[in-house]
Amino acid sequence: MPRRTPSRTVPGELALIESIRTRAARTDSLSSALKIGIGDDCAILRPKPGHDLCVTTDFSLENVHFHRDWHSPQSAGHRCLARGLSDLAAMGAEPVAVFLSLALPAHTPAAWVEDFLDGLLALAARHHVPLAGGDTAQSPASNRNHPGLIAADIVAVGQLPARSPRLRSGARPGDAIYVTGALGGSGAELLSLARNPKKSRSFAAPKAAAPAHPHLYPQPRLAQGRRLRSLAHAMIDISDGLSTDLAHLCRASGLAAELDEAALPIHLLAVAAQRSGLAPSALDLALHGGEDYELLFTAPPTARIPRSIAGVPIHQIGTMRPPSRRQPLIVLSTCASQKIPIAPAGWEHFRPENRTK
Ligand code: ADP
Ligand code: MG
Repeated sequence: MPRRTPSRTVPGELALIESIRTRAARTDSLSSALKIGIGDDCAILRPKPGHDLCVTTDFSLENVHFHRDWHSPQSAGHRCLARGLSDLAAMGAEPVAVFLSLALPAHTPAAWVEDFLDGLLALAARHHVPLAGGDTAQSPASNRNHPGLIAADIVAVGQLPARSPRLRSGARPGDAIYVTGALGGSGAELLSLARNPKKSRSFAAPKAAAPAHPHLYPQPRLAQGRRLRSLAHAMIDISDGLSTDLAHLCRASGLAAELDEAALPIHLLAVAAQRSGLAPSALDLALHGGEDYELLFTAPPTARIPRSIAGVPIHQIGTMRPPSRRQPLIVLSTCASQKIPIAPAGWEHFRPENRTK
């Protein structure tokens, strides 16, 4: 790897791809499904016999999904890959390879790209998934005063035994609703970053920082997804917020849901954010905050759902109900024994009131 000098900007396309290739080569041996990686016109993948491939793609856009002032480059790279791996987890898939398309403005500091790759490749190594290709382009200047923005697109390819995916549409009336980990931590950490952006600089080391930083270093629940594949009826990852992602699952399954407030695992950072006045309500962060990248799934009440998988706790948070025209899609049974409707209020692009996320 070239020496890091803060003032150095990205080398030409060919040199940049060569440096990505050299670094990614270390991840090639991680998957026996990868036959040809970076360097040819296409990568070649060979899934295990009797397996289907599943493919997902996710943008990480500067000033939408990350801010150069708030997110260290390592965090931006980690989050970019975590978005794709979390989608694979939600299908119960095993990652096979990932692809990274990068659009960079002229004069992007070389160190930013190197650190972005540090974050991305550290997470890739942890989940044994090779970076097998991508594309690299210069993004245009927006105008004379603005050099342009960074865009990264991750494509994640996974494999799973044929006919075994856990779709959003598989829930049945009477199913229990479960969630992995805790909710609202990512939203709480984002609020504290927005208030004090310099904080993220001290959290640059992905390995040490991971568990304590649900926003900067979310952990895709791949081990949990694979284990739950045989137990769950329906599964989705919580990227936009519990209220929004549960509504997706309800609509796809043609059902309604009742959540139990007392059972919601609220992240300690969300509780702390409410105590310090940073957020009005920890419950709201848990319901609508988004980007927790936990798994939300349903299973028959008789299923033997473990209390935790690979150290990540699992909580039952509600029940799927038959739909009713008189009832909202999601109701929350509160600690005060009231039933209140919960409208999907997580993240949605193109909504007029969108704040940056
Ligand atoms: P082509 O012009 O045939 O699309 P490229 O010159 O864009 O090929 O890419 C050459 C090789 O480098 C390909 O294997 C491609 O997948 C890989 N590559 C290009 N950009 C990236 C990137 N950002 N991350 C990973 N691999 C990349
Ligand atoms: Mg190309």
